This record gives sequence, C-alpha cells and structure tokens, in this order.
Amino acid sequence: MPKKREIKDYSTDPAAQQMLIRAEELGIGTAFTRADAMVPCNIGGAGMCCKQCGMGPCRLTKSGDTGVCGATIDTIQAQNLTRAIAAGSAAHSDHGRDMAFLLKATAQGEAQGYMIRDVAKLRMVAGYYNIKVDGRKPEEVANDLADLYIAQFGQQRRCSMPAGR
Ligand code: SF4
Repeated sequence: MPKKREIKDYSTDPAAQQMLIRAEELGIGTAFTRADAMVPCNIGGAGMCCKQCGMGPCRLTKSGDTGVCGATIDTIQAQNLTRAIAAGSAAHSDHGRDMAFLLKATAQGEAQGYMIRDVAKLRMVAGYYNIKVDGRKPEEVANDLADLYIAQFGQQRRCSMPAGR
C-alpha cells in the first residue's frame, strides 16, 4: 500500500511547504503526492527491467536470468544507468551551449548587461586548456574560451575537453 508522507518530507523550504499545503487544500496533485500514490514496480525499481529494444520489455527476476538478447542483470543495470545519465546530460547540454554563446557575446560586447567580473577565474579556467592569457585582455581570453566550449558541442573526434580535464 502506498504511504503518504508528511509535507516536511517533501521539502524543507517553508515557502514550498506553504504551496504544497495549499495545493492539497485545493485537491491539486503534485509530483510528491503522485509519487506517494504510485506503488513502485519491484522489478523496475531494482533496475532489472529492460525495454531498450523491441524484443522486450524483458523482466529479469533472479540471478542467472537473461533478456531475449542474452543481457544479464548486471548488463541491464549498467545500461539503464548509463542511458539515464546520457539522457539527463543531453537534456541539459543546451544550457551549457547557451552559456558558451553568452560568454562569446559578452566577450564581443554584444550581451547587454553582462560583463566579465571574475578575471582571475577566467584566467585560471583558460589555463586548463592552454589558452594564452599573458598580455591579453579578458575579453580576448573569454572569446577563445567560448570558442573552445562551443566547439565541444557536436564534436566528432576526441574526448570532450571539459570531460577530459
Ligand atoms: S534485455 Fe535485450 S532483448 Fe530485452 S529489451 Fe533489453 S536489449 Fe532488448
């Protein structure tokens, strides 16, 4: 049977708690109440369900089981974890790309209201990638750093430089 948690277990933020109480008063469901109402699947919850191809879903329930393709529980759990990380990273990579474009625009004086405030940090980060800093303006360094970051998106060869670092 699903267990309903206390509001304090949903969030420690008093403002969020206030909103969650109000939502309950109005009978509006939230991610928290829906999670409480959902009984987790034992097999999926343990990472032993695979639906990565059309031959499945395969549900493995005991040691030694394999999916239709021969994948073991260990393989499926590793795949599930890796794919979840890849999907999450991909979903957020556009934020990183926007940051790189914003850095470029700031370096070129095209981002109204933005400026390079932490020059020491800029020089330190540029140093990670062997970008020349001595005798150069912060904007020049930032422009090179932005170009380096922008080039990482869709890169076809070699390891991503921030990941490599
Ligand atoms: S275990 Fe293999 S066959 Fe089954 S869904 Fe996953 S990839 Fe497909």
